[in-house]
Amino acid sequence: MKCIYRIAFPVRVAKSRIQGKGAYAVGTIPPRRKIGSMGGVVISVREARRRVKAAGMTTVAMVELWNGLALDGTVNSNDLRYINHSCTPNTYMRVMGVHVEFYALREITTGEELTCDYGPTHHDGRLPCRCGSPKCRGFI
Ligand SMILES: [Zn+2]
Repeated sequence: MKCIYRIAFPVRVAKSRIQGKGAYAVGTIPPRRKIGSMGGVVISVREARRRVKAAGMTTVAMVELWNGLALDGTVNSNDLRYINHSCTPNTYMRVMGVHVEFYALREITTGEELTCDYGPTHHDGRLPCRCGSPKCRGFI
C-alpha cells in the first residue's frame, strides 16, 4: 500500500553528528505543530524483519504500526526518514493507522536537527546511542 505523505515544514537533509544523515529545520517550527508524515510503503512485520536483516542494522527506517504491519521508510520515502534518535528529542512520533506522523515537542529553530525518541526498537537496546545528550540512556 502506497500513500501520499505531506511535509508541512520542509527540512534539509545533511550530514549528522548523531548518525549518517539528519533532517534539519529550514525555518522555525512552532511547538505542537505537525511536521509531516514519513513516506514509505506498508508491509508485514515479518517482511520488515526480513528486510532489516538483509540491509543491516543502521540503514533502514522501519516503523512497526499495528496488526502485524510496518512502514518501510526506505521505499517511496521522504526526508522525514532521516530524523535521528535522541534521548532528549525535539519531536515525537505518533502512529495514526498506517501513517507515522511527527510533531514538534517545543519550538524548533532554523538549522536545528530534528530528533525523535524511537522508544523500543528492533535493536533491542544493543545499539550504542550517540545522541550526545547529557541524559543519554547509552543504548537504543
Ligand atoms: Zn542517547
